[in-house]
This record gives sequence, C-alpha cells and structure tokens, in this order.
Amino acid sequence: MKKQFVIIGLGSFGSSVCKRLFQLGHDVLAIDNDIETVKEISDYASHAVVANATDEDELKSLGVRNFDHAIVAIGEKIQPSILCTLILKEIGVKKVYVKAQNLKHQRVLEKIGADRIIHPEEEMGIRIANQLDSDKIIDYIGLSKNYSIIELEATNKVSNHSLVDLDVRAKYGCTILAIKREEHVNVSPLPDDKIVQGDILVVMGDNKSLKRFEEKGL
Ligand code: ADP
Repeated sequence: MKKQFVIIGLGSFGSSVCKRLFQLGHDVLAIDNDIETVKEISDYASHAVVANATDEDELKSLGVRNFDHAIVAIGEKIQPSILCTLILKEIGVKKVYVKAQNLKHQRVLEKIGADRIIHPEEEMGIRIANQLDSDKIIDYIGLSKNYSIIELEATNKVSNHSLVDLDVRAKYGCTILAIKREEHVNVSPLPDDKIVQGDILVVMGDNKSLKRFEEKGL
C-alpha cells in the first residue's frame, strides 16, 4: 500500500531512506535547508523542497501535518533535530522516526514523544557482527533482545527434505517463515514443501534455538 513519508535532512542516512522509499513506490517529500542537497535528491523523491525544519510555519505551509510518517535525519546537530521532532508531534504527524546522535539526544527524543529512535551506525554494526559470527547467516533482524529473524542458506544436509521431515519447530523450537529460491519467495511454506540446497531459509525464533538450528540442523 502506498504511504506518504516526509524525510527531513538529506545526509547519507536521510537520502538513503528517501531513495529507497521512493523506489518502493511511496510518496516522499524530501526536505533540507541546503539547496544543493535538495537539487541532488530531486530525481529520487516525489517532491524535494528547501526549508528550515525548525520553522513551524514553513513545515505547516508544506502540509507536513497531513503526513502519517516523518523521518528526522538531521545529522550532527542535536538542537534542530529535537525542535523539529517537537514541532512534528505537535502538529499531529502520527509516527515520527528520529535518527539519534547519542544517549542524551535519545533521552530527550523519548521525552518529547518520538515514536522510534534510530541509531544507524550501532544497528548496522550489530547486524554486520551477527552476520560475521557465522558463515551460514546471510542476514539478521533483531526482534527483541532474545528473538530474531535470520536468513540461512540450505546445505546439502537438508536438501530434498520437506518441512515436515525436518520438523524444525519441534526439534529446535524455531519456525521457517519463508523459503527463497532465486527470485521466488515462498512466504507461506506448506509442510510438504521441499527444500533444495542453496535455498535461503528465513527462520524466526529465540536466539538460542536459532543458534542450535544453525549449528546442528544445517
Ligand atoms: P548523515 O550523518 O546522515 O550524513 P548529515 O549531518 O550529513 O547526516 O546531514 C544532515 C542533513 O540535515 C544535511 O543535509 C543538512 O543540510 C540538513 N539539515 C541540518 N539542519 C537542518 C534544518 N534546520 N532544516 C533542514 N535541514 C537541515
């Protein structure tokens, strides 16, 4: 479903979010106070405008209050990021996601009602470390402290076995959510669906179960 996003601050993080959302077919309003930055993004956003994100009247005149989702990606400067977040929440943007610089910044953002606080470097660092931790893990998404979704490559050991044969849920306590085979993704695998070597298994579970499945099941 097409959604409306406003992205404020178009540094490396903000512009990546903007380009990807636009590529996915969403409506994206990109805002930055630097004219050159706005010019650069203009082919990769529905609208790109120069505005000061700490000016409430400017944000209102751009119709920002009508957006359900805002991403505040103002870089190093904490004060404008906080002020902008405050304005967005006050004018009624439903979900405001904010890139935080540090813990103090995070605490203030929590107090003023930011809906999600993002630490891109830390989150990416953890993700990469989890991929490096194992030769088998292709990708990793942390759901909470103890639960994750990981992508694993199916080895010869499981090749030509159906999900019911493998019985991963009973044996390891985790669930195969999807099976990717080249471009095709089987998002609701049936018990009789067979796995082939090289398939990518998308598996959800608690971290201990996932580790056991990765080490013993594959
Ligand atoms: P990153 O770490 O993601 O690369 P940067 O610090 O490079 O972030 O970029 C932040 C962006 O936010 C810059 O393009 C800057 O022009 C923009 N920005 C900073 N202050 C404001 C503001 N008050 N209004 C709008 N954009 C701003």
